[in-house]
Amino acid sequence: MEKIKMTTPLVEMDGDEMTRIIWKMIKDELILPYVELKTEYYDLGLENRERTKDQVTIDSAEATKKYGVAVKCATITPNAERVKEYNLSQMWKSPNGTIRAILDGTVFRTPIVVKGITPYIPTWTKPITIARHAYGDVYKNTEMTVADGSRAELVVTDKDGRETRQLIHEFKGSDGIIQGLHNIDKSIGSFARACFNFALDKKQDLWFATKDTISKKYDHRFKDIFNEIFENEYKDKFAQAGITYFYTLIDDAVARVIRSEGGYIWACKNYDGDVMSDMVATAFGSLAMMTSVLVSPDGVYEFEAAHGTVQRHYYKYLKGETTSTNSVATLFAWTGALRKRGQLDDLPLLSDFADKLEQATVSTIEDGIMTGDLAALSTLENKTKVDTETFLKEINKRLSAMMS
Ligand code: NAP
Ligand code: MG
Repeated sequence: MEKIKMTTPLVEMDGDEMTRIIWKMIKDELILPYVELKTEYYDLGLENRERTKDQVTIDSAEATKKYGVAVKCATITPNAERVKEYNLSQMWKSPNGTIRAILDGTVFRTPIVVKGITPYIPTWTKPITIARHAYGDVYKNTEMTVADGSRAELVVTDKDGRETRQLIHEFKGSDGIIQGLHNIDKSIGSFARACFNFALDKKQDLWFATKDTISKKYDHRFKDIFNEIFENEYKDKFAQAGITYFYTLIDDAVARVIRSEGGYIWACKNYDGDVMSDMVATAFGSLAMMTSVLVSPDGVYEFEAAHGTVQRHYYKYLKGETTSTNSVATLFAWTGALRKRGQLDDLPLLSDFADKLEQATVSTIEDGIMTGDLAALSTLENKTKVDTETFLKEINKRLSAMMS
């Protein structure tokens, strides 16, 4: 069989620990036999980040801007322990944070739904994708404790030195607390465009919610910016695609999400996204079945798994013990990136290969062959727990039948 050709390289960002092991297995077992893979390789493993003083992370993000599509392996975000373990000269920043800042992107997280793994909300038969606005609000706050008898005000000084003041609270009879939050129109606009574009790409409805009835200036601004951009730039495209933009209050949205069957994109303000993405991920079953894609407002895509480097499994692997690590989310990062490359470069064979690899993966699990994390959840009667490598070999059995 002739291998599928690529024209533009994918930006390949390698990573750490167990996911780095899985990364190579996926390529060797499931991609290289079928695709003449073209990548521009960046080693974001912690040792190379140390060696390059983290320049490699910046370079990989710049390459992503240039080529338009990247696939990323999970990476260690160093903490004090890791500084010792890897003898680091600095506590390097989270690569995901660095890449997101350079691409100005929004993260979309989508669960992979398979038969036998029933969500805790049984009506959720289709995935719910959460988009989190990753700028400002409580994550960039200023806060103070305030002594009884104090008067707290909000003061804004404009560029000509004129002050506008508003009373927050007169503290009488008790100490208290205050907090200052901000956001910027530019970031909210980028977030809105990323969400509208992603909805068009997926041909799924977009939901957005805030508390604009209570927060008449702050949350209302989010609502207005989304609405303005939708009316001016996306209304017709949404109508053509047969999808809708739906705005409601956050509490109403939560109630509707629980009653829904899934199958839409839910755009969330920063804090809502933080909380709701954990709820949705847990309800769908397993973090190892959650994919993640960073989309920039100008349409650059970086695909990855939502989970980390699975450190505990890696130490078992290093000791020569058998592991049963779930490779599905990492595999879907590869298929997402290959499919996107296929769409952009007009290579239907490449996109078709990505679809088949995903189908082969889902069939393997639905046939009852799965890693330990899923075996613990699956309601299938006949199921077999397999090790990391056997799982990939089982996928390849099905894939090779589909490809010939
Ligand atoms: P983690 O790697 O997501 O793993 C947490 C636990 O979840 C694992 O110990 C495992 O449970 C289970 N799990 C996660 N993925 C799995 C998979 N594919 N297959 C089977 N089980 C899976 O999170 P962590 O242990 O908190 O973090 C480890 C490292 O990853 C940290 O250095 C962190 O900085 C990094 N991290 C990176 C990213 C990223 O690059 N996007 C995201 C998060 C964390 P059991 O041990 O019970 O089997
Ligand atoms: Mg959270």
